[in-house]
Amino acid sequence: MRQDQEEPYQRRSARVYAAADRAGSAGSRHLTARPRGVLYDAVLLDRDGTLIEDVPYNGDPEKVRPVPGARAALDRLRAAGLRLAVVTNQSGLARGYFTGEQMRAVHARVEELLGRFDAWLVCPHDDEDRCDCRKPAPGLVHAAARELGTTASRCVLVGDIGRDIAAALAAGATGVLVPTPVTRPEEVAAAGWTAGDLPAAVDEILRRQQAVRPATPPAEPVRTALVVRSDSAGDVLVTGPAIRAVAAGAQRVVLLCGPRGRAAAELLPGVDEIIEHPLPWIDSTPGPVDPEDMRGLITRLGAVGAEQAVVFTSFHQSALPLALLLRMAGIGRIAAISDDYPGSLLDVRHRVPVGVPEPERALSLAAAAGHRLPEDDEPVLRLRHDAVAARPSGLGDPGYVVLHPGSAASSRACPPEVATRIAGALTAAGHRVLVTGGRDERNVTARVAAAGGVDLGGRTDLAGLAGIVADAGAVVVGNTGPAHLAAAAGVPVVSLFAPTVPFGQWGPYRVPTVRLGDAAAPCRDTRAASCPVPGHPCLSGVDPDEVVDALRMLAVGGGGGR
Ligand SMILES: [Zn+2]
Repeated sequence: MRQDQEEPYQRRSARVYAAADRAGSAGSRHLTARPRGVLYDAVLLDRDGTLIEDVPYNGDPEKVRPVPGARAALDRLRAAGLRLAVVTNQSGLARGYFTGEQMRAVHARVEELLGRFDAWLVCPHDDEDRCDCRKPAPGLVHAAARELGTTASRCVLVGDIGRDIAAALAAGATGVLVPTPVTRPEEVAAAGWTAGDLPAAVDEILRRQQAVRPATPPAEPVRTALVVRSDSAGDVLVTGPAIRAVAAGAQRVVLLCGPRGRAAAELLPGVDEIIEHPLPWIDSTPGPVDPEDMRGLITRLGAVGAEQAVVFTSFHQSALPLALLLRMAGIGRIAAISDDYPGSLLDVRHRVPVGVPEPERALSLAAAAGHRLPEDDEPVLRLRHDAVAARPSGLGDPGYVVLHPGSAASSRACPPEVATRIAGALTAAGHRVLVTGGRDERNVTARVAAAGGVDLGGRTDLAGLAGIVADAGAVVVGNTGPAHLAAAAGVPVVSLFAPTVPFGQWGPYRVPTVRLGDAAAPCRDTRAASCPVPGHPCLSGVDPDEVVDALRMLAVGGGGGR
């Protein structure tokens, strides 16, 4: 896209500068020829306060001062083959504080000091213009991705305030917050990924990119691989990309899961066979350990005939008890994440820093075991199309909003009175609302739907819910399985996220998202299953109008359209 092609919609859209003073010289064509990274193709950088010191409404090239270490950090990204773009709000243009010519002179000076950027994306508007590009709106991120020949989900954005991170999330990109003294504490609390300075952000981007690539190229394909993910539906869904990576290097994949994850396991591409068995050291409400039952499990696992086992866990779970059973079953090569000393239980002992998104954490274990996603796959959650149930008739056209108030863990559920007000506000704003929930949540779904919407409580299994979610314009949901179902269907999420676990690890992965709720509430990082704070304050303060605004941000129209 060149400047001379953008006049008709310039009023509402970002101005695209291919590079400072070289408008149009760097089309997307030669960029698409570069090899793709596994996780990211491009890094988008906010300008003021991130790349250079913030001088309000600066039109003077002499005042450009890069942040410490910026040049070397950017050169590390360039050397790694990542494309770079600047995404910047410059409302000083709308307000007449400087001219376009002055701004281009500033950008030329930035490139003189920091090297070349593949694109410059500028929002020239101020808040009154109600454009779709001024951050926190996602327009600049989408425009940058297009200009760089990739998609927003393959971009990571580095910024210094909440608007930057919100714009990244709303586009389905990843955001890294590098706080400055002006960054508000609530913006720091809400960010899923923070770094101390720009060089540290860059180092972690490169580390994560490298971590999902096997150090040694995969040997000959494994005949049968056993993959393990116990626990609930959401846990199984976020492990999907890693299981597909293993499947790409194995002729047959057998998945061991628990009863609460079985329905999700049925939806995963790449799984040839499922073994369902509860593991008493993983389950949240375990029965006693039955020696006979364990002996039966060893026999069953031995009968799989796997040459390799990859045991996926959350950071608070131990892979070692199962590793012992797998050893007793005669499985030769076992890989798992373990901070605890594994002795001879593991052949591949992998370790991951805290804060990494669960799908990437699992992909990095798959990589340590020698597997990576094939070139034609993406590190996103996916569902088997043939396993998703057809949507029941009578729900009208696609584009409705699914409101899912419940959660298996009550600390992560939306308080019913809040969900009720949300249903009313969405209906008043012209949205068609479907209220979903399990059989044991029918009281709540009936009460919520009475305020506006169709009550589908107890009427769907997970495959049925997947069919309904797949045709939604967006899903409004807490941190629970259906949020990951929406991500796997590529449907935007308004995430009512109780901060009991880190958003950066458990937030909806690589799908347009708006995060709501108090990220600094006292339940933060407690991993509590039921809310330890009277009044459930992290979510009870959500204003229904915020949900209506979030849907507008995600371009989900009232009255049906996406
Ligand atoms: Zn704009």
